[in-house]
Amino acid sequence: MTFQTLGLTTDLLRAVAEEGYTEPTPIQQQAIPAALQGRDILASAQTGTGKTAGFTLPLLQRLSASKTANGRRSPRALILTPTRELAAQIGDSVRAYGKYLSLRSTVIYGGVGMEPQVQTLRKGIDILVGTPGRLLDHVTQRTLDLSQVEILVLDECDRMLDMGFIHDIRKILAKLPVERQTLMFSATFSKPIQTLANTLLDSPVLIEVAPRNTAAEQVEQVVHPVDRDRKRELLSYLIGFHNWRQVLVFTRTKHGANRLAEQLAKDGLKSTAIHGNKTQAARTRALNDFKQGKVRVLVATDVASRGLDIDQLPHVVNFELPNVPEDYVHRIGRTGRAGNEGRAVSLVCADEYPLLKDIERLLKQTLPQDVVVGYEPTSTTPSVGTSSANQGRSPHGGRQKTGGSGSVSSPTRQKSGGRPRRDRGRTQAEGRR
Ligand code: AMP
Repeated sequence: MTFQTLGLTTDLLRAVAEEGYTEPTPIQQQAIPAALQGRDILASAQTGTGKTAGFTLPLLQRLSASKTANGRRSPRALILTPTRELAAQIGDSVRAYGKYLSLRSTVIYGGVGMEPQVQTLRKGIDILVGTPGRLLDHVTQRTLDLSQVEILVLDECDRMLDMGFIHDIRKILAKLPVERQTLMFSATFSKPIQTLANTLLDSPVLIEVAPRNTAAEQVEQVVHPVDRDRKRELLSYLIGFHNWRQVLVFTRTKHGANRLAEQLAKDGLKSTAIHGNKTQAARTRALNDFKQGKVRVLVATDVASRGLDIDQLPHVVNFELPNVPEDYVHRIGRTGRAGNEGRAVSLVCADEYPLLKDIERLLKQTLPQDVVVGYEPTSTTPSVGTSSANQGRSPHGGRQKTGGSGSVSSPTRQKSGGRPRRDRGRTQAEGRR
């Protein structure tokens, strides 16, 4: 199947070709024709499936095809997203895909001044991308008129609800025309999502491209059991030994993210943290530095990570497992995007085993465990050696089985399992560069 067969106009086909897309992804194959027909959509799609183009392309086509008496150019399409980063990223996609159309778009989120946004809105906008809180501020101050919206997109709906945006969303919905097209995207389908869908959507086309709540198949996942107080050391070691150049690391707290970034920097790894307490400018800078390879390790919290789009990110590390198992799916969705292979590594200490069990239950699979020699956990880790699907590979490509089905990786080529010096792996890896 090609983009031509989906019924897109030449202006859009040109823009898509310039993005380097040759074939529509499964969600695009299903969503684009349905949305072009004006149908409502309820789609369950993981991040990384190409869902942004799945809703943006038909939206652009429909808006550019229909004439409007909307002289003031109040927004005709509204895209709601949970985070600033995701909003910015969707804004970039709208601009990229719509570069040969004469539609105006802008992105609105909190954490930055209102006034420039007011000026932009006053000039007239066709497509508005934003986070619910700030959009509502504009609606309340009457600097935004939503009465002309023809198409509404709710992206990463489950996350918006998790983040407590439901009241803001409902207030925004009340300002929209009843006659409109609504496209709803969510990685998971909880009860509240279903309830919202029932009230918002009119005979929607249901699209489910990846089995619900399962990790992207192309992501290779591994668990390294390790004591909590040796996680940082192991992480520095793995990054150095494998010579990972771009690693996204997840922590549970903002404080933890800052501290880890500082400690890794002390280990000689260029690192920065990204989380909700940072100013938008600092978050954007951190992300750009990471994308450009100026920063090797980006440490993020779950909220901040949402919407990060870093092409072909090869490594995601769970420095701590998330409390909510669905967050694990979102986290590892950062790698293996759009068909690229990725690796998700989780450093798991004894008290995180209940969280690991929850994740495995959600994924309906046992994650392979791989103990790194020299970093064997001293406290009881109930599952070590009992994993039935151990795919663990040692850093030098071999596999060492230990008795049962657990495996032990040798980070150095030494035969004994002696504790490696803190910097040995890094030195080896650096030597290969
Ligand atoms: P999304 O799931 O929308 O965040 O998209 C994930 C990534 O896939 C982004 O980097 C897109 O640029 C990329 N992408 C989207 N559609 C395609 C396609 N048809 N072919 C190749 N890459 C794509």
